[in-house]
Amino acid sequence: MTAQLIDGNALSRQLRADVTARVTALKANGITPGLAVVLVGENAASQVYVRNKVKACEDTGMHSVLERWPATMTEAELLARVDALNADTTIHGILVQLPLPAHIDAQKVIEAISPAKDVDGFHIASAGALMTGMPGFWPCTPYGCMKMLESIGYELKGKHAVVIGRSNIVGKPMALMLLQQNATVTICHSATKDLKAMTLQADVIVAAVGKRNVLTADMVKAGAVVLDVGMNRNDEGKLCGDVDFEGVKQVAGWITPVPGGVGPMTITMLMVNTLESAERTERR
Ligand code: NAP
Repeated sequence: MTAQLIDGNALSRQLRADVTARVTALKANGITPGLAVVLVGENAASQVYVRNKVKACEDTGMHSVLERWPATMTEAELLARVDALNADTTIHGILVQLPLPAHIDAQKVIEAISPAKDVDGFHIASAGALMTGMPGFWPCTPYGCMKMLESIGYELKGKHAVVIGRSNIVGKPMALMLLQQNATVTICHSATKDLKAMTLQADVIVAAVGKRNVLTADMVKAGAVVLDVGMNRNDEGKLCGDVDFEGVKQVAGWITPVPGGVGPMTITMLMVNTLESAERTERR
């Protein structure tokens, strides 16, 4: 059996077309959704991510502001910028690109962002809203994974989902979203004793570890849905995920590629969150 591909680029194009249409409608009512992206320091990967986010804003007709600050910026200075963006009515979403330089407390900065503009969904208020099923911003990567499952018409109720990884930005929110859709959820991490025994039971596997070949074909039940969040480099320096794609696609029912899978969906859901933030201001 060869798995069907869940194409993150194609799904992103569809969703971004919908975002563009809604942005146009909002603009007709005098509101242009605006995203502020704040980058501190020179991290090479971060530079690429912020460029892609700003480009996605341009492509969907949103307003964007990219603030680049030197790595020497102090925590107090960054907190003051966040305060200013909180007060800026042209900005509906604020994203502080992580990682931040070591002398800045990232959690403190995230908590300084107004929950109403927390389009990354990392604020403790957003995490609490997700946990309790209240309205709020969902972290973009797991949100994108949920959209991928929705796009193939996958019914999660009663299914066993295994999430590998328990970070605050991917693994934990992913598990909560799957639980909200009535899946039975197992969360695995570095202290999990027998990962294969867990994944072999799974109807859905989400790999969010950051290590190549964490999931191989012998660990996957026939027909399972496999979502690969990981972003790693292979021996040739090419982008690859956590999943042994060539092997697992022989066993799985559905699989996401890397690149072209979860990655583009993350940015797409950032656009969706920013748009929805602007739509909420319209309703106020
Ligand atoms: P993270 O904070 O480093 O978390 C990694 C998780 O994997 C931890 O919970 C860790 O367990 C667990 N883990 C480590 N080794 C393991 C093993 N051998 N078996 C089982 N679990 C293991 O990483 P993250 O921020 O969640 O990101 C995970 C990956 O997704 C990275 O490659 C990152 O680049 C990628 N990512 C991609 C996107 C995208 O848009 N595609 C977005 C975000 C992240 P412990 O908690 O016990 O340490």
